[in-house]
Amino acid sequence: MHSHAMNEARAEQLRLEWRKRVVYQVASAFAAVVTALSWVTREPGDVIVERGYPFLLLVLLVFVALLRQRHLRLWPIEITMFGILTFVVLGRLAWHLHFAGSLDEHLLVLAGAHYWSVGALVVGSFVMLDRRVGAMAATGVLLVSLLLVVTSVWVEVTTTGTMPTDAVLYLVRVHGFLAALLALTAAVSGMRRDLHRALARAEILNERATTDPMTGLANRWAGQERLARERSAAHRYSRPLAIVLVDLDNFKAINDQHGHVVGDGVLEVVADVLRRTVREVDLAVRWGGEEFLIIAPDTGIEAAGQLAERCRTAIADEQPDGLLVTATFGVAELRRGEELDDLMRRADRHLYGAKDDGRDRVGGMS
Ligand code: GH3
Ligand code: MG
Ligand code: MG
Repeated sequence: MHSHAMNEARAEQLRLEWRKRVVYQVASAFAAVVTALSWVTREPGDVIVERGYPFLLLVLLVFVALLRQRHLRLWPIEITMFGILTFVVLGRLAWHLHFAGSLDEHLLVLAGAHYWSVGALVVGSFVMLDRRVGAMAATGVLLVSLLLVVTSVWVEVTTTGTMPTDAVLYLVRVHGFLAALLALTAAVSGMRRDLHRALARAEILNERATTDPMTGLANRWAGQERLARERSAAHRYSRPLAIVLVDLDNFKAINDQHGHVVGDGVLEVVADVLRRTVREVDLAVRWGGEEFLIIAPDTGIEAAGQLAERCRTAIADEQPDGLLVTATFGVAELRRGEELDDLMRRADRHLYGAKDDGRDRVGGMS
């Protein structure tokens, strides 16, 4: 019953994946260019850049190639990408904090590594991983970074006997910033999830509000709305519009003789027949108890009469539960400037004329 809402959600999911693929490819290509430039302009003796960056460049190019393979699923690529990025960023940080000499002398390099790389990891974890796993990964990255800082300060204090004051102040500020970034990203990600839930729920509620639960046809409310829209369009573009009112014959007798449950089953079968028989552009509506309405846009009275006749024979041929069920039809075509009430009244008059003439027929075609 909610298949429409589910299809919408699936389509939205696919659109999101496609956008992510594009963003990852652009980001990887950009990072590859930056990596190549960093390698070319490297400081002599920077072992990490000299040895590590060619490898990083290769990894980034492999990712661009993988992301272009539409048949490969996205999430394994995302997790691998996130793992390698985390390794590279934290590894570089560890090297700078522990093996590159005095902390105070390395603040500028650290600033780049910290603000940009760890910041990108924090935000990226929410984009590339599932929300909850992403929050844990980002927190983990932040904790590891903090641990690397604390140990490097501790090592420097114990080996040189002096506190690297600038570095400590700076690192406190960096981690304050990263924590704020983490909180902000988590909040945005939470709002996004809430919004998606609300939209999915609204989709389901809308489907419920416009569908007749018993037959699955459009309900009267949805029918009225569509009819108003089609009337406006018909007048504006001078196109014909026809309606077909359907009322089952002697339905009270079917209920009386076989019970309401059988009566309900007959209604479901008739609804199925109508759904199958009308064209794609038409709308079959459960108008009331055992009355249906077919809205036929771009349809004149002749074609509407043929449509009604097709439905009439289809219902009479169906014989649900072995019962001979028939229906009577009233057709009407919208007149220039006519109100919907008047159109409905004419279809109703034609229907009751046909009932008077003996039922199981189409009225209004004279
Ligand atoms: P006619 O050929 O003149 O239309 O005769 P009829 O017996 O069909 O008369 P009418 O259209 O006035 O009857 C409506 C009946 O349909 C009354 C009610 O018991 C029955 N009905 C309406 N809605 C439902 C429903 O949802 N389920 C069932 N089982 N019966 C319904
Ligand atoms: Mg009736
Ligand atoms: Mg009836």
